Amino acid sequence: MVLKKIMKRCLVIAGLLLFGLSANADFVQLDTDVNMNNFWEKSGKDTQKILDVHSKILNTNKLNKRVSIVLYSAPKTINAEAHYMDKSIYVYTGILPYIDNDDELAALISHEIAHCIDYYDGPLKLFTMELNSKDYELKADSIAIDMMVKAGYNPIAAICIMNKLSGESVWDTWIFSSHPKGSTRMMNMYKYIYKKYPDALNSDMVKNINYQNFTYSSQKELDEFKLKEKLRKNKRDESL
Ligand SMILES: [Zn+2]
Repeated sequence: MVLKKIMKRCLVIAGLLLFGLSANADFVQLDTDVNMNNFWEKSGKDTQKILDVHSKILNTNKLNKRVSIVLYSAPKTINAEAHYMDKSIYVYTGILPYIDNDDELAALISHEIAHCIDYYDGPLKLFTMELNSKDYELKADSIAIDMMVKAGYNPIAAICIMNKLSGESVWDTWIFSSHPKGSTRMMNMYKYIYKKYPDALNSDMVKNINYQNFTYSSQKELDEFKLKEKLRKNKRDESL
C-alpha cells in the first residue's frame, strides 16, 4: 500500500515537472523570436525613425547649431518639447500614436528645432520668448514649414498634426496659456503655405481627413483670407 502511494506521488510529481517543462519550453520558444539579427529592428524601430527624420531635417537645412533628440518612454504624455539647458528635444512615446507619417513627424521635430535654435541666443532671448510665448510659437511654426520643405516633406502635414493635437483654449491670454489656439496656429500655417509654397495646396495631402477637418472648422477665416488675397491681387494687377 505504502509503495503504491509513493509511486502515485512520484507519478504526480513527474507529471507536474513535465507540464512545467513543456510550459517553460513554450515560453523559451516565444522568446527566441528576438535574436541578434532582428534585435534592433524589433526594439528600436520608433527611435530609429525619429533619429533619421531629425538628422534629415538638420542636414538638409545645413543648420550650424547642434540639436539632439531622444525618444522618452512616457506612454501617457502626449507631447514633444525643446529643452533650453542642453538644446535637446524630448519626444514622449505617448505622442507616437497620433503621428501617421514621416511628414507629420517632421512637422513636430522641425517646430522643436526652431525653438532650440532660438535658445542658442542665450538667457535674455529665453526671457523674451517666455514673455511673448505665443508670438514665438507662431514663429516656430513658420520656420518649421521652411525646414520641412527644404528636407523634402509636405508642409500640409504640419496642419494635419496640429488639427489632431492642438486644443482651443478658453482663456487665450498669456497668463493662462503659453500657446495660441489651435485654429490660430493652423490659419497662420495656411497663410504661410499659401504665400510661400502654393504648390503644396494642390498636393494629394489636402485630401487627408485631418486637413479636411481644418478646412471645415476654419471655413469662415479661410474664405475671408482668400477674398482679401484676391482683392489684393486685383489691385496689384490694375496698378501694373
Ligand atoms: Zn512650441
